Amino acid sequence: MKKFINSPQDVERQVVDGYVKAYPTIIAKAADDIVVRAQRKAGKVALVSGGGMGHEPAHLGYVGYGMLDAAVGGAIYTSPAVDRVEAAIEAVAPGSTGVLLVIKNYTGDVVNFKMAAETARDAGVDIDYVVVDDDVAVKDSSFTVGRRGVAGTCFVHKCAGAAAEAGESLAEVKRVAEKVIANVRTMGVAIEPCTVPAAGKPGFTLADDEMEMGVGIHGEPGVRHAAMEPADAMVDEILAAILGDLDYAGSRVALMVNGAGGTPPYELAIVANRAHDVLAERGIAVARTYMGPLMTSLEMRGFSITLLRLDEELEGLLGAPAHAVAWTEGDAPAAAEPQVAAPAVNASAAAVEPLAPTDAAPSADPSAALVARALHAIADAMDAHKDELTELDMPIGDSDHGINMARGFDAVREQLPALAGADASTLVNKAAMTIISKVGGSSGPLYGTLMRKMAREFKGCQKISLAEFARGLKSGIAGIEELAGGAPGDKTMLDAMVPALRSLEDSLDRGISGAEALEAAARAAADGAEATIPLVARKGRASYLGKRSVGHKDPGATSFAYIMAAIARCEREVRTCATE
Ligand code: ADP
Ligand code: MG
Repeated sequence: MKKFINSPQDVERQVVDGYVKAYPTIIAKAADDIVVRAQRKAGKVALVSGGGMGHEPAHLGYVGYGMLDAAVGGAIYTSPAVDRVEAAIEAVAPGSTGVLLVIKNYTGDVVNFKMAAETARDAGVDIDYVVVDDDVAVKDSSFTVGRRGVAGTCFVHKCAGAAAEAGESLAEVKRVAEKVIANVRTMGVAIEPCTVPAAGKPGFTLADDEMEMGVGIHGEPGVRHAAMEPADAMVDEILAAILGDLDYAGSRVALMVNGAGGTPPYELAIVANRAHDVLAERGIAVARTYMGPLMTSLEMRGFSITLLRLDEELEGLLGAPAHAVAWTEGDAPAAAEPQVAAPAVNASAAAVEPLAPTDAAPSADPSAALVARALHAIADAMDAHKDELTELDMPIGDSDHGINMARGFDAVREQLPALAGADASTLVNKAAMTIISKVGGSSGPLYGTLMRKMAREFKGCQKISLAEFARGLKSGIAGIEELAGGAPGDKTMLDAMVPALRSLEDSLDRGISGAEALEAAARAAADGAEATIPLVARKGRASYLGKRSVGHKDPGATSFAYIMAAIARCEREVRTCATE
């Protein structure tokens, strides 16, 4: 891997700092991972967007007059955690007449942003959200998570931002955002992949003469892995897919020719040239063209084409003044507008709930020691299998699962000494909060939910019995299903969790106890993970591949199998020690 970086751990913070230092009159830092307008206008709806970083200038480059009020960035390609989205909302909610979240349709983003919206609503913020799903490369069906949100999101920022700037109500700004979503379609192609710095290897591979047609903005596979074609043929295929999906006949459109990060301007111009010719032949009038790196995928050599079907309202909103780092329209805002200084939300991305070191005696709860050992063992297992889990996430995801899990459980392990006096339920609950906050993506809130539900089940337990562990797992599985809408058979972590639960219940029925029961459950989880290989994914990123997800093992199911194995190993060691 050759990149202009210092170390993979520093990338996100240095990117934010670089942008803020370069454009101090437009944007300011509210926290390490949250960018707000340098001059914030009160008395309007605040627009908040974000997601994993690596798509610059999205989204921090769209913070500014007439566009976003705040952008929150997670680790490269990983959704920001719930508490970070909450912090972004907190940074702009005071003085606003409501908050609209613009979410791209990825499980991690949807779950984290929706959970944060609920917290804000409970705190009295008038808040709503929209989900952008413009990628026609992905089959849309009620059985899957639907389409990915890609470059069309920029048009949502622009039009909803203009409506918000004009003083429209939250309901009105949301209506505009939804109108854009209903009228915008995108598809992309790549000829060379991108490498997530922390992964160190490209997310997919292409031979010199190959292309990935329909690629996602995280390097997710598309509709066709095929031999290279001339640029015009690629443009024709992409436009055929877009025009086949929505009726643009006789419409005026806004055309976006987006570079994926590694595509030079002269190549984008060749794409734009053909796109204009094809649209002219079809009688579709291009009212505006936007060309350049607007929603990138690190250094990927690719491009996408977006068409927004316009009416008078949308065309007016596109033409309204905007002054953001990566999008300018008309004159800069008049300084006489009522302004409020940028807020200082001093929480940082690294902020896990602060824990005062405790001198408390070890907990009287015998289960607490076992839980602490188990959390330690899980962290070791995630470290040991980090590369393998990340590699499983390459062909059907975005190459980060092992990195996510190791980062989260390493933080849990670091937290353990400070929790010496805590009971088992508190330990699991604190660990859950750390996982939610540190892992991000979709696995963070999902594993966090599992652990929070388990913690609730363990409350007041003198000693966590196998029956209580099984009840906790059952309630955790229900929590994951409720949060992310999946079910066993969808090729997710549930496909390892549910067999583990069944095995535990079976052991309880048959009077099998302790380590043996946990070992059987760990085997069932591992078998469940193996059994995901022939499944077609219906949830999570892998679902975007449709049938092409067949033949690959689900990363989340695999990490759960390792977690169960670590728990079983712990129980076995403790029992062995006790009887020696
Ligand atoms: P992301 O997909 O955000 O990159 P990770 O790579 O860390 O997050 O986790 C991916 C895993 O999350 C998948 O392998 C799958 O097991 C799990 N997952 C995704 N969506 C769901 C869902 N709706 N229900 C249960 N598990 C899911
Ligand atoms: Mg992933």
